[in-house]
Amino acid sequence: MKNGPLSEIYDVVVVGGGAAGIGVSICLRHAGIENFVVIDRQTVGASFSSWPAETRFITPSFPTNSVGMLDLNSIAIGVSPAFSLEVEHPTGAEYASHLRGVAKFFELPIQEETDAESITKVGDEFHIKTADETLRTKHVIWAAGEFQYPRVNGFAGSELCRHTATVGSYEKLEGDDFIVVGGYESGVDAAYHLAYCDKRVRLFDRGCPWKEETSDPSVALSTFSLERMREYPFEEQVELFPQTPVQSVALRDEMYEVTTQDGQSFKSPVPPLFAGGFEGSHKSISHLFEQREDGFPLLNKHDESTIVPGMFLCGPSVRHENLVFCFIYKYRQRFAVVAKAIATSLGLPAEELEAYRQWGMYLDDLSCCGEECATC
Ligand SMILES: Cc1cc2nc3c(=O)[nH]c(=O)nc-3n(C[C@H](O)[C@H](O)[C@H](O)COP(=O)(O)OP(=O)(O)OC[C@H]3O[C@@H](n4cnc5c(N)ncnc54)[C@H](O)[C@@H]3O)c2cc1C
Repeated sequence: MKNGPLSEIYDVVVVGGGAAGIGVSICLRHAGIENFVVIDRQTVGASFSSWPAETRFITPSFPTNSVGMLDLNSIAIGVSPAFSLEVEHPTGAEYASHLRGVAKFFELPIQEETDAESITKVGDEFHIKTADETLRTKHVIWAAGEFQYPRVNGFAGSELCRHTATVGSYEKLEGDDFIVVGGYESGVDAAYHLAYCDKRVRLFDRGCPWKEETSDPSVALSTFSLERMREYPFEEQVELFPQTPVQSVALRDEMYEVTTQDGQSFKSPVPPLFAGGFEGSHKSISHLFEQREDGFPLLNKHDESTIVPGMFLCGPSVRHENLVFCFIYKYRQRFAVVAKAIATSLGLPAEELEAYRQWGMYLDDLSCCGEECATC
């Protein structure tokens, strides 16, 4: 495929205008970095805009900034979605509009409708191929997220299922009798909304996420979802099948047949919904990172590739040993670490970033993390 004309050279190109890309870009500004651009294949907040209409944030928003604590869903100091949206659990559409407002407020240099098709390192610079041109840059921050890269396989016939990330609205789905495969946040969310539409739901999970013995919401179900599971329509309409891995899905005589590993068989007239999580966009740049055993990119202490200097990762795929940074309030703690590393490589002091520490947004000592709640 032919390469487009070469651009001017940027100090940084941020790929992705979601929560991670917008948040880290504000941090770049505070680090004194001016020569950068944020590219997005669609628009700022595009992933949030395509959530199912009924889906809401599980992490609550509350305007706690006045006492020195950031709203859990803030991506920048001085910003609170609770304050701007006046809701505790925003929908995806609401949060996308919040992100667009934040990007405008901070006057970020955004280039929308620009897909990063491939990235290569040529000498000391990166070349990011897009449809119209090849962007040249000294550093790349990959913040392309997970939502647009769903996991579609996992068992025989999984292609017959519909991934929950492709559902526009649960209310508009045809059918009265649903099978949902996957019982973590998205699966419980699907079952909850279907139950409220008076649909029957059978929910399968290979484990039992609603009974996990950990206080880390990256592993156990959130309190928001646990509360929903106790509501009347859920208890009445949803049948739970924990410890029941699905082995295959087949289509026979216009009925979808789900067979579980313990040999049971279940039928539904509509495609099963697959809440199987996400492959993640990092798979498309795997040549630029060493891989951990779990397939996530191996990062140095600046969230930079261990084999390609200048290539950084931001967002929910960041992992350090057993620490999982999959929520906004977790991965935003690493924005300043990345911005500081890039500023240092550009010879900038980035002193302003020190203010991020008091807001819990500059986590450069990971030894303090992973604390579990006490049992009471
Ligand atoms: C149903 C659901 C509920 C959730 N609830 C919560 C919650 O309550 N609290 C919480 O903290 N987190 C929640 N999350 C997780 C949260 O949505 C993610 O952490 C967040 O979307 C990640 O932000 P991001 O910027 O990394 O990715 P995204 O929001 O996906 O943004 C990535 C951006 O990159 C763009 N892009 C992708 N590929 C390319 C490319 N090749 N070139 C250019 N641009 C590209 C996309 O268009 C998109 O705008 C939830 C997720 C889901 C699916």
